[in-house]
Amino acid sequence: MQEFCAAGVCPVSALGLGAHEREWLGRLCPDAQSVLVYLFPYFAGRRPGNLSLYARGRDYHAVIRDALTPVADRLCERHPAHRFAVLADDSPLPEVRAAVLAGLGAAGQNGLLIHETYGSYVVIGTIAASLPIAAAQQRPRACLGCGACVRACPARAIGAAGVDPARCLSALTQRGGDVSAEEAALLRQHPLAWGCDACQTACPMNRDVPLTETPAFRENLIDSLDADALDGLTRRAFLEKYPGRAFTWRGPAPLRRNLALQRGADTQQTENPS
Ligand code: SF4
Ligand code: SF4
Repeated sequence: MQEFCAAGVCPVSALGLGAHEREWLGRLCPDAQSVLVYLFPYFAGRRPGNLSLYARGRDYHAVIRDALTPVADRLCERHPAHRFAVLADDSPLPEVRAAVLAGLGAAGQNGLLIHETYGSYVVIGTIAASLPIAAAQQRPRACLGCGACVRACPARAIGAAGVDPARCLSALTQRGGDVSAEEAALLRQHPLAWGCDACQTACPMNRDVPLTETPAFRENLIDSLDADALDGLTRRAFLEKYPGRAFTWRGPAPLRRNLALQRGADTQQTENPS
């Protein structure tokens, strides 16, 4: 089955890449001319839980790679003189900008891509190509500019310039190491142990979105983790217990810290990055 719901292409020249991004892309795909962009819907319903919705199924990085690698292989066979490299939200490439330029949606005030049907419940995969490919003109429906995401953000992370990643709870819950007193206060009040869905839940473009048809995003879901589930686990044991999950890449330490803060416990003993 085809996991992605939409595909488009944008020229690399339109992305406005900085020197670091250009150098990085050049190493992966020398003389990259185009970026093929694919959207993968992941919404599987709103069941209670303390993991962000995107992290409850199989790790989306792996889902994207599994889906796009055969596409890139076919392109290589058809165009043997060119290079095609799969990227799965694991690079400095500005995926949201690429998706907007490819006509697949609009950039929301919350910094996420908004697709007309699936709202912001999509993850973005790309294939960088040395082949110049003409981009089709599409007119995506824009973000409504309603400000619901701004009002819903518990960290006040959304401003006129977009989302401040230093304040965003999605990033903060995933960060290892110490947190400041202000950050600890935010984490204490936050209902999730991993990620943050507040701006997406509030967004009217996410109302009544269809459920994903991708089995990896709708089967074997883990909605929640508690302290008992993490108790005594080394990093290796954690990865073995929860293979192929997006919430494992930092090991168990950030999750333990977040859960401890929610319980009001002293976090000093949860910072061990084991
Ligand atoms: S993910 Fe959460 S903290 Fe980050 S911008 Fe959205 S509502 Fe704010
Ligand atoms: S809540 Fe409103 S302003 Fe924010 S991304 Fe959604 S449509 Fe745009």
